[in-house]
Amino acid sequence: MKDKQIAVVGAGLAGCLLACFLARRGYTVHLYERRPDPRTGKVERGRSINLALSERGLDALRRVGLDRSVMADALPMRGRMIHPVTAPGVAGEQAFQAYSSDGERAINSISRGNLNNALLAAATALPNVSASFDHRLVGLDPKTGEMQFDTPAGRVGAQADVVLGTDGFSSAVRGQLLAHTGLTESIDFLDYGYKELTIPARDGEFALDPGALHIWPRGSSMMIALPNPDRSFTCTLFWPTGGTSAFASLTSPSAIERHFAEHYPDVAELAPNLVEDYLLNPVGVLGTVRCEPWQAYGRVGLLGDAAHAIVPFYGQGANCAFEDVVELDRVLDEVGDDWDRALPEFEVRRRANTEAIAQMALANFVEMRDKVASPVFALQKKVEHALERVLPGRYVSRYELVSFSTTPYAQVQRRVRRQQRLLGAAAGVAVVALGAIGAGLAWRKGSGA
Ligand code: FAD
Repeated sequence: MKDKQIAVVGAGLAGCLLACFLARRGYTVHLYERRPDPRTGKVERGRSINLALSERGLDALRRVGLDRSVMADALPMRGRMIHPVTAPGVAGEQAFQAYSSDGERAINSISRGNLNNALLAAATALPNVSASFDHRLVGLDPKTGEMQFDTPAGRVGAQADVVLGTDGFSSAVRGQLLAHTGLTESIDFLDYGYKELTIPARDGEFALDPGALHIWPRGSSMMIALPNPDRSFTCTLFWPTGGTSAFASLTSPSAIERHFAEHYPDVAELAPNLVEDYLLNPVGVLGTVRCEPWQAYGRVGLLGDAAHAIVPFYGQGANCAFEDVVELDRVLDEVGDDWDRALPEFEVRRRANTEAIAQMALANFVEMRDKVASPVFALQKKVEHALERVLPGRYVSRYELVSFSTTPYAQVQRRVRRQQRLLGAAAGVAVVALGAIGAGLAWRKGSGA
């Protein structure tokens, strides 16, 4: 057993997985979580969130033998199903777009709550992991590792050799580094929020195709739906937070019904609790967190959303947080568990990658809410898949690299730019060649040859 005591603050997705990895290395780990034990409590209304888990997340789970148990609860989605409207109130024909060139690769719909519970159970089953719930971190001295927590019994103190903040978007550990060290942060809130709705099972069956991630692209807004094992779908509306098309603009049941009948006509009939869900479920905020540095004194570090939360449009936030855990474990291997070296090195390796996925996630929002509906986009995807088939391993789409590989995100961005340049050049050559052939034919015709 290693002699260092590690505190992991935030028993969410990254924190629980991190506890498993660190315990495997021989550390004594204590998890602190502000909420009650989620395995005994109820999910907050409208905050169920199902995630798309893809290769990066699965790779991390595989390393601690958790992939099979987690995947038993997951539903594969092999592509997007687009739900157009052809006129106000008229649903168009659904169109399926496969994610991969063979149509086989899938991202996996899984409930965030169930995934969290499975990881928490795996962590706390280890003899060297313990957990305190109802412990909200409110104070931290980064130099000594002394912490203060608010609990139902009042304020309590604790101390650890290393403190790792996996406490999400509004991280209190990050807040303490901001207060006590030279950390700087920026939070770019998106001017869109999200709200959950439910499409329940219909006659005990899925009301929509469960093998797809459903998208209702509406230009300046969109809705998505992911399947659940109980045959329902969790829908997430992404709408502007201000202006005439904001959530707050629909206040009465009749206005909500009218809006859905006009813009989401096929959903209106599948979601009997639409009005209640809409009125009672909260609006969540979305944004990109950037901060620097992610560590202080080789003693306190940030991982997952606490360090680099992103918008959810590439389905990568949790996958990326899991990848952080793998990278920290790898660095610890390489530096012989010297935390003074490990935390700065972890940051050096991850920063460019997390910035790359932050940018790709923002760009994908435009693609999902707008471009996916256009025939040009559908054709582009077909051409991309055809190129992948004729140039195997030489041309690989961005989606494939992000979702079905563990290629570092920054490398994905560079590779995709390179491929686009080459394709642009090839298209230019083709246009010139066709032009030359056309001119040659015209000359032959003109000269009577
Ligand atoms: P969290 O999961 O937020 O966990 C943080 C934990 O810290 C929580 O348990 C919290 O209670 C606890 N905590 C907070 N403050 C304190 C404190 N002061 N003291 C103690 N404990 C504290 N990602 C994907 O990979 N695929 C997707 O398809 C996807 N879809 C998403 C859809 C939506 C609508 C949203 C909002 C996010 C989505 N994400 C997705 C992102 C994903 O949910 C996050 O990236 C992921 O949960 C980050 O894990 P984390 O452990 O860093 O933070």
